[in-house]
Amino acid sequence: MCGTKTISLLIVAGLAFAVGATTPAHSQVLGQTTVFEGARLITGDGSAPIEDAAFMVARDRLGAVGRRGAVTIPAGAARVDLSGKTVIPALIDAHVHMGYRRGLGFGPENYTRENLLDTLNRFAYYGVAAILETGTARGDLAYQLRAEMPSGALFRTAGRGFGMPNAGPGGPMRDSAYGVTTEAEARADVQELAAKKADMIKIWVDDRNGTVEKLKPNLYRAIIEEAHKHNIRVMAHIVELDDVKDLLRAGIDGFAHMIRDRDIDDELLALLKARPNVFFEQTLWGERRALYASRPAWLEEPLLRETFSAKEIERLGEEFSGNSENPQAAQRARAMGQVNLRNTARLNAAGITLAVGTDTGGVTGEEFFGLGTHIEMELQATRAGLTPMQAIVAGTRTSARILGLDQLGTIAAGKSADFIVLNANPLDNIANTRKINRVYLRGQDIPRPALRAKWQAEFDATPGAR
Ligand SMILES: [Zn+2]
Repeated sequence: MCGTKTISLLIVAGLAFAVGATTPAHSQVLGQTTVFEGARLITGDGSAPIEDAAFMVARDRLGAVGRRGAVTIPAGAARVDLSGKTVIPALIDAHVHMGYRRGLGFGPENYTRENLLDTLNRFAYYGVAAILETGTARGDLAYQLRAEMPSGALFRTAGRGFGMPNAGPGGPMRDSAYGVTTEAEARADVQELAAKKADMIKIWVDDRNGTVEKLKPNLYRAIIEEAHKHNIRVMAHIVELDDVKDLLRAGIDGFAHMIRDRDIDDELLALLKARPNVFFEQTLWGERRALYASRPAWLEEPLLRETFSAKEIERLGEEFSGNSENPQAAQRARAMGQVNLRNTARLNAAGITLAVGTDTGGVTGEEFFGLGTHIEMELQATRAGLTPMQAIVAGTRTSARILGLDQLGTIAAGKSADFIVLNANPLDNIANTRKINRVYLRGQDIPRPALRAKWQAEFDATPGAR
């Protein structure tokens, strides 16, 4: 603890300097500082929570963070009492498909500015500070919204991903990806993405159960090499262990899913040990039908009714009825779900980097933006061997890191002021990440009641569509 005070003072001075650049009056500078005090603070770096914490926010930035009493609070600072609450960093979802889902609808006609803005607000409502659109962008809207930084979650995009022709993403998203057959084409398309400053490159290496051609190894090698020349990382949609091994040898940076065809082996662990920055997402949310034997309790939570129509919740609930049109496929999915959980647990035990990515907005992720992010963490912590703290770190610091969002993911001096105030402690029960009291993104209190009222009015105005 000793030394905390000195650091705090320096940070406060730093904040005053930064703010003072535009508002020289000292009293104004102090008036803009707010102290949040009394909460249990989980900073997102995996360390033990700080009980009875205090942290400062000036404009969109965090100031000093520590135990109340150890943090120097500037005179005149506004105070927010968070006694009895728990604070965690805002979440990051590193695998999302934006723009196709709108209520019960699913198609490219929904890829509109209005729908994208609404989806960013839906993530914000759930305390998600940033998302990565994984390879299914249409046109330049994603890049425009990234530059504009509208209210809601930050928009990061992999632009258009890569598959063989007509063999990339699923369902109505299929035509969004580049279909490539030659290395020269692949490199030219990577250069196009680099010119747009794509935040990641996404490739699909999956034969969709023998129905399409898998992206060829010479093509993904060309994509990875060209992307790395432009300092862009590449993440792969995968299913099979053998593909993961070859992608690792080809220099891949991370995986959009977990290996689901069989249990991992020592050869894979050795390959991963040599590449410690490689990450895995698990998309447990996307595979939820295969993971629950009966209706999950969270279907009854009020949070769902605040953000989704009765019809949407009813349809979501029906997924867990156990009635399947194709029992054989359902059985295969259940088996793959168990392999996913075992492999996640084994990689976690081996210290491999696990991030949070849900596939929300896609074929199986559906329109449950934000909810999926929280359920992903619950599944990690209740079914896949992670502790609640490890799940929180995966959904905050780790996911922020893989998106290169250094300002997000932890609650520390100098970071962006993005955090969730919870009514209960998620270390006791990871489901408590959904007991949301307030959400702050970039220092702003997200107007959750107003968003809720807007959505409720839409449900009433267009019953059946939402
Ligand atoms: Zn996906």
